[in-house]
Amino acid sequence: MNAMVCTQKSSLVVGRFAPSPSGPLHFGSLVAAVGSYCLARQAGGCWLVRIEDLDAPRVVPGAADDILRTLESCGLRWDGPVLYQSRRTDRYQAALERLQRAGLLFACGCSRKEVLASAPHVGEEGPVYGGACRAGLAQGRRPRSLRIRVPQEQVCFVDGVFGTREQRLESVVGDFVLRRADGLFAYQLAVVVDDAESGVNQVVRGADLLASTPRQIFLQSCLGYSPPDYIHLPLALAQDGEKISKRHGAAAIAAAPGRAQDLWRALRFLGQSVPEELQNAAAAEVVAWGVEHFVLKQVPTGFRVAAG
Ligand code: GLU
Repeated sequence: MNAMVCTQKSSLVVGRFAPSPSGPLHFGSLVAAVGSYCLARQAGGCWLVRIEDLDAPRVVPGAADDILRTLESCGLRWDGPVLYQSRRTDRYQAALERLQRAGLLFACGCSRKEVLASAPHVGEEGPVYGGACRAGLAQGRRPRSLRIRVPQEQVCFVDGVFGTREQRLESVVGDFVLRRADGLFAYQLAVVVDDAESGVNQVVRGADLLASTPRQIFLQSCLGYSPPDYIHLPLALAQDGEKISKRHGAAAIAAAPGRAQDLWRALRFLGQSVPEELQNAAAAEVVAWGVEHFVLKQVPTGFRVAAG
């Protein structure tokens, strides 16, 4: 399937919103949707929507449609067809084969337990892979997952909100999985292939993915893709101090027309000086204000910020 929907001049900004359909849109993802929308549209660019439904066991039936309806009712209109990751596995397989031909992958026979037991340390991103199968599977071991060998180099990028970020992949994650033991393609691979094939050059998303970005930049370099600009937005904290997620059901944004107040709160959360009186305006008016007045420099740089 050809996912190129924005093929105009190369300087055109192409942003995107990529929700996982594991529940209805909640305040935390509305923040990412509004932020990515305002920045792409302010630059006169495209805004794409991709449903990240690769992880079938986590997909909640009806959630994707619900999210799309909510975006529509918020006046967040996307360009081109919505991309569904579950329909693009042939593209991920092709990318995996390219990496395999380049000699970058190896089969790993370790279970989660074994990875944990042999990890040099367990960091924020989980246990660091200790390299047990890097030089080949030991005799009698059955291949489970496919991993990519990471180089001993620093990956560096400049984030639009968080500034210069550096990560040594070998000490933070180690050789990471691209095809899981259950046969599913890893998020890291799918996101890189999708963004590149859709022409996305501006990735705006939650700061929980800051630590994944170096893996994605590394994969882009292996596959010959140019890296997009990255802008990570602070995470909204729920009352209990946790990141707002789908399990905070109360925070779901209803797909009712005129969700101006939620949009208004999302813009305020992003440090924007949206006028008080717009709280009672139509959603389209709040979005139009955001597109015109969004100032990236005003976005708070705290990794986690109270949703207020
Ligand atoms: N699907 C991810 C989420 O809902 C976002 C992935 C991305 O923006 O790269 O948290």
